[in-house]
Amino acid sequence: MLLRGGTLVHLHPPALARADLRIEGDTIVARAARLAPKPGEAVEDCRGRLILPGLVCAHTHMYSALSRGMPSPATAPASFPEMLARVWWKLDQALTEEAIYYSAMVGAVEAVRAGTTTIVDHHASPNAIPGSLDIIREALGVVGVRGVLGYEVTDRGGIRRRDAGLAENDRFLTATRTDTQFRGLVGAHASFTLRESCLAALGDLARYHRVGVHIHVAEAKDDDARTRRAYGTGIVDRLERHGLLNDRAVLAHGVHLTKRDIARVTSAGAWLVHNPRSNMNNAVGHAPIETFGERAALGTDGWPADMLAELRFAHFREREHLGLRRAYPTAALLQGGQALASEAFGVPFGSLSPGSAADLVVCDYVPPTPLTAANLAGHLIAGVQAQTLTGVMAAGRWVCRNGVPVNIDVVAVYGRARQLAATLWRRVRG
Ligand SMILES: [Zn+2]
Repeated sequence: MLLRGGTLVHLHPPALARADLRIEGDTIVARAARLAPKPGEAVEDCRGRLILPGLVCAHTHMYSALSRGMPSPATAPASFPEMLARVWWKLDQALTEEAIYYSAMVGAVEAVRAGTTTIVDHHASPNAIPGSLDIIREALGVVGVRGVLGYEVTDRGGIRRRDAGLAENDRFLTATRTDTQFRGLVGAHASFTLRESCLAALGDLARYHRVGVHIHVAEAKDDDARTRRAYGTGIVDRLERHGLLNDRAVLAHGVHLTKRDIARVTSAGAWLVHNPRSNMNNAVGHAPIETFGERAALGTDGWPADMLAELRFAHFREREHLGLRRAYPTAALLQGGQALASEAFGVPFGSLSPGSAADLVVCDYVPPTPLTAANLAGHLIAGVQAQTLTGVMAAGRWVCRNGVPVNIDVVAVYGRARQLAATLWRRVRG
């Protein structure tokens, strides 16, 4: 396939260039100012359009998709730990295999509509653990999006469930070792719900499969406080002790890490994933992303995987925090997610150049003001939105055209999702 005449965007450092792209299979094979079509080759006219590399959601929980509009508990949670206990841990316990499938479908549909072609998911379903990652894989596969999946291991449900979670990660990592559309990480909930023996087992699993852990770190203040009370040491100390602090680790949030701990995390090369909408919605505080360094990415933590929307929240939250005289390059977080995906799959994402994954977004954005590399961030934040996307490609195939996912019947999927959500809410209340 030949994409002709588009303006190719590199998100960070920002760059724009008009060029043709040739795609063969799941890879970009050529880029030049002018490529002659080969006989029989499909040609897509992209003149006047922006082409962005496919976006990556570096931390989310797709099972949250069926919680939209769910009634609040009778007594509103007063803190993040109460929110976990009264809402999220009830929701994940109520998930059935069908609910997992449809929540992943809805999550994947929302992702591709917003130009997100890779989702790093952190899954929990304590009453449906074995095979749960395969259910998500199947749903994402139908929609056509890529996934980096992990099961959220925890000690909060007892030994049997803990071991089932470890086994599910192990099974999925083995099954996807050389997969081109799905890879795994070792999922783990958060330090305060993980005993020493469990962290040791997670460390063994990560070393065996040569992948990182994907874990919530210092999301709310109490993760650190409860860790210190129970284990007499800090979160980062514990990760380090069990060999989990390395350049493969994906640490979500980091809101309450100390400067010293952030320095240890960044020098270890671990990924820090910022989730501004979730942080604000849960009132956990401001994440000091200006200290996160280069290995920082953007996640949605259960909100729809619309990275351009999340970018705007990151921008405004950071602007409010830093004041007018300092600026943080939030678009770098999008590039960070693409670098994270590159490492997970062992193929370049995030650059529209030969040899890179053919994951891209065609955007019918007509700038009403001059658009240059220098002001790209301003256009991304104020103008380029999911509604302007005309084509979303993952692994060399169109998965969404003009807001319509091409591989599924959205009305039917959402209809079944609504039925399942109603049942799920009754189970959560019950
Ligand atoms: Zn999360």
